[in-house]
Amino acid sequence: MIPPTTEAPITRLVIVGGGSAGWMTAAAVSRLVDAGVAVTLVESDEIGTVGVGEATIPPLLDFNAALGIDEDEFVAATQGTFKLGIEFVDWGKRGDKYIHPFGKYGRPMLGINFHQIWLRQHLLGGDADPGPVDDYAISIAAARRGRFAKPANNPEAVLSGLAYAYHFDAGLYARFLRGHAEARGVARIEGKIANVEQAPLDGYITAVVLEDGRRIEGDFFVDCSGFRALLLGQTLSVPYRSWQHWLPCDSALAVPSASVAPPTPYTRSSAERGGWRWRIPLQHRVGNGHVFSSAHTDEETALRRLLDGLDAPTIADPRLLRFTAGRREKLWEKNCVAIGLAGGFIEPLESTSIHLIQSGIFRLMSLFPDRGFSGIEIDEYNRWLIEEYEHIRDFIILHYHATERADSDFWNHCRTMDIPDSLAARIELWREKGRIFRAHNSLFTEESWIAVLLGQNIVPRAADPLVAMLPVGETVQFMNHMREIVARTAEAMPTHEDYIAMNCAMARQVAQ
Ligand SMILES: Cc1cc2nc3c(=O)[nH]c(=O)nc-3n(C[C@H](O)[C@H](O)[C@H](O)COP(=O)(O)OP(=O)(O)OC[C@H]3O[C@@H](n4cnc5c(N)ncnc54)[C@H](O)[C@@H]3O)c2cc1C
Repeated sequence: MIPPTTEAPITRLVIVGGGSAGWMTAAAVSRLVDAGVAVTLVESDEIGTVGVGEATIPPLLDFNAALGIDEDEFVAATQGTFKLGIEFVDWGKRGDKYIHPFGKYGRPMLGINFHQIWLRQHLLGGDADPGPVDDYAISIAAARRGRFAKPANNPEAVLSGLAYAYHFDAGLYARFLRGHAEARGVARIEGKIANVEQAPLDGYITAVVLEDGRRIEGDFFVDCSGFRALLLGQTLSVPYRSWQHWLPCDSALAVPSASVAPPTPYTRSSAERGGWRWRIPLQHRVGNGHVFSSAHTDEETALRRLLDGLDAPTIADPRLLRFTAGRREKLWEKNCVAIGLAGGFIEPLESTSIHLIQSGIFRLMSLFPDRGFSGIEIDEYNRWLIEEYEHIRDFIILHYHATERADSDFWNHCRTMDIPDSLAARIELWREKGRIFRAHNSLFTEESWIAVLLGQNIVPRAADPLVAMLPVGETVQFMNHMREIVARTAEAMPTHEDYIAMNCAMARQVAQ
């Protein structure tokens, strides 16, 4: 039983929507069922889900672990593969290629950050030149060789610098979580919501009514209805704040292709004249898409670019999706919190959408309301999530803005546009002496910023003066040694394909 509070507890929680957001929320809150909360999820087969969202980032491991999910079982059930980072092709300029790795570059020396040591040697050049920074990241070394292994726990081991996430079939993930949630007592109702009822005095939501007249009452509602934002947007009229002036891509064409080669343990993102293309390898197919700005590229051209970039035949028809980068002004209003696309969408470039779902769920659980719906707690939720959205927004804008490309109106716009002050300040600080700091609730680590800043050719003017403590000659030896052990460690890892076959192949699960 729920212990008494000064306000009545929530006893009826209604989740609207059964995409990744709905089922991730349902799985996470399913433990409340034992505490006496009736959890109901409503979804409409007729409307369906957005049906994309195949690449993730490392915090998803924490989400799955919190639910007690077995990794091998989950990867097998979702046709999953492992992701060590994202390869960016043609972003800084045509012909460029770098990987934004999960995990770390090198290791510090005398407490000085590795990237500063690399930078000093790079700026010295000549015999001191350390070569590409990519050579010092174990996740990149493994990705380039098509290899995968789990990180080591021993902090001395090179493998402790590796981190990973997954590629998976988002529909299968939602199904997997549905099994988890239903087994723990979450009730699923199939049907299309035609009407949302509100209390006449304060506008709080009281029930959703289906087309066939069924009425589902609740104390607290989670809006996971996708871009429609049925509750937070349409019913409570919380406005949408567009970031399209910084993130002009508003369309995506998605198409799966046959899997004809071993899956790469990384996502590929290739810049195009009017946007970019993704390539996400799963066990049974490859997910492909072209994200583009409709103001700069028409659908026909985008489709041709998508199909021309494929390395195998398509296995379904291409689908067009439209979106506006941005977020709702609030993510929680009255007795309704929006999670997933109903709350906002930045764009898929760094696979942050599923992470924002997870982050919303964790924060919701740590500020779970009673029927008093404290304004202070709701404000705290909104403050936290909005900051997180804005940190991610800045990071994504960096990719578009830090470019020398001048081969299309799209890139001319991105290269010369005004950027948020918060991002401009970060870039300036970086240019000065390579300083980069992670804000306390920012998703992306220093390493992520370093990867994209260097990968897109923003090299600082100088290194941290403290690096002068390290003699140049010794540093050359230190760097050579590190590069060697990173390469050797990667060579000793199993291939990604073998790792999957040994641990979590779909066929293995079916055979058991
Ligand atoms: C092009 C593109 C690529 C993406 N790639 C990635 C990626 O690689 N990685 C990543 O993390 N994210 C990605 N995303 C985002 C990701 O797809 C979403 O964050 C994720 O799928 C969650 O969607 P959702 O559950 O919020 O919405 P949806 O999947 O749209 O689900 C909405 C649900 O609400 C229900 N619903 C709506 N209206 C009603 C109604 N009236 N009655 C009853 N039910 C209703 C629907 O039936 C459905 O069940 C991508 C998004 C796009 C557009």
